[in-house]
Amino acid sequence: MIEKCRMLLKKYYGYKSFRKNQEEIITSIIDKNDVLAIMPTGAGKSICYQIPALVFEGVTIVISPLISLMKDQVDTIIAMGIEAAYINSTLSSSEMQEIIAGMCDNKYKIIYVAPERLDSYEFLMSLSKMNISQVAIDEAHCVSQWGHDFRVSYNNIAKFIDSLYVRPVVTAFTATATSEVRIDIVNLLKLNNPKIFVSGFDRENLTINILKPTSKRKYVLDYVSKNEDSSGIIYAATRKDVENLYEMLIDEGFSAGRYHAGMTAEERNKSQENFIYDKINIMVATNAFGMGIDKSNIRYVIHYNMPKDIESYYQEIGRAGRDGEESECVLFFGQTDVRKQKYLIEVGTENETRRMVAYKKLQQMIDLVNSNSCYRKFILNYFGETYNDNCGKCSNCNMEGIIVDRTIDAQKVLSCIYRMKRKYGINAIVDVLRGSKGKRIIEQEFDKLSTYGIMSEYSKEDLRDFINMLISHGYITLEEGTFPLVRLNNLSVKVLKGQQTVMFKELSVSRKIENSNDLF
Ligand code: ADP
Ligand code: ZN
Repeated sequence: MIEKCRMLLKKYYGYKSFRKNQEEIITSIIDKNDVLAIMPTGAGKSICYQIPALVFEGVTIVISPLISLMKDQVDTIIAMGIEAAYINSTLSSSEMQEIIAGMCDNKYKIIYVAPERLDSYEFLMSLSKMNISQVAIDEAHCVSQWGHDFRVSYNNIAKFIDSLYVRPVVTAFTATATSEVRIDIVNLLKLNNPKIFVSGFDRENLTINILKPTSKRKYVLDYVSKNEDSSGIIYAATRKDVENLYEMLIDEGFSAGRYHAGMTAEERNKSQENFIYDKINIMVATNAFGMGIDKSNIRYVIHYNMPKDIESYYQEIGRAGRDGEESECVLFFGQTDVRKQKYLIEVGTENETRRMVAYKKLQQMIDLVNSNSCYRKFILNYFGETYNDNCGKCSNCNMEGIIVDRTIDAQKVLSCIYRMKRKYGINAIVDVLRGSKGKRIIEQEFDKLSTYGIMSEYSKEDLRDFINMLISHGYITLEEGTFPLVRLNNLSVKVLKGQQTVMFKELSVSRKIENSNDLF
């Protein structure tokens, strides 16, 4: 059977061989197993359900939320010689009738359907009579409240499948791999004992650099000058940031375009096309840009601001280097990004549970940027993939530092938190450790604590970074919320009792490591 699949791959797609895991997934589907395949963007999910669609008798229904891309996706497979159609709200009712009639005549092998269509009883009735061999659910994470892109209409998918006379093979595809989302997909889509594949999240050709440049604008200018002939995306948080960066690049004579939700659809399309067809090199955009973009030669992705969670970040950098060539990802971060993202959560999320989820995900993103060890390892572990090496291709692995024992500094911080009794935010702790004479500090009598001023040799910023690093590595816990509070945990107690050392890789050893006694 796999021979036949390879033949189809060659015939329709012109490719010689399957990629890692594609073959296993396809074989499973053809053996009529439900499947949940978690693969990063660009890994080649579509072939995994399209080849079985060609092998099966009857039609494959592909449920996809990306209405704006549906026409392109379907045009592409029609051009390859596959009978296909799509049904979404952009069609007139007569066009829709025509396609439904075609479906009844078994004219199509693959039909893309927007999930909203499943709200229509009439539509469900017309589908229920068809010979549907497979229902493939693209962007399956949309069914989960834990995902970054929840869609109410995905709730109807399971009901739709139940309504069919013969249950088809159900296959779900997503790039989101957190365990909560995975569990939701299996339960809410009612997958039947599915085979689960989590395949290579590691994009080996991407270098992951996370930096705090003194001037972000200058860094960008230097960077694009050095890479003038390459394609790259610069992501910024807001329309205003996009406009500013775009103007700066144009003023400096670079070949740049922009993309954000404040532009008309026409302007956006034009800009996108210019980028895809290499008429411009640099795309400055908000996160509105990139969904479904099939451009293989993107050499770099710069994040001017920190994204809201690791999923978004990884999806966005995943647009670089799809051709397998070496590509670079640069993320800038600073305290303002954290404030900006918190503000967006506050104003953008009414539902309390979703707000807490958003805070938790944001904190994991903050932990990533504050991490002192291999960034790739951090990300892959976040997605549930085991990876124990140091990649040698991220700014932490490549940092020319040495491992420094920071146990005593950590003990100072922890014992200060302990002595402050109630929970406080990072800034209050920093103030006490640095011996601030602020009103609040004196009022609360923090100046009487033995830990008052014991880290006065540090700058505010360095100390805040150090505390963030302790949080990132789990030595203390930050409780998420509008005003996050720091608290001690089991690991903190071990550090305080001298049962656990704190080793960080650092740039310089010039910092004095002093002995300190009786901290706990
Ligand atoms: P995803 O849906 O996972 O983001 P796609 O299905 O769009 O990814 O595939 C990404 C790109 O990889 C497409 O250009 C596709 O044609 C290509 N591709 C997929 N499978 C193979 C393969 N076996 N050999 C070569 N190219 C492939
Ligand atoms: Zn690394």
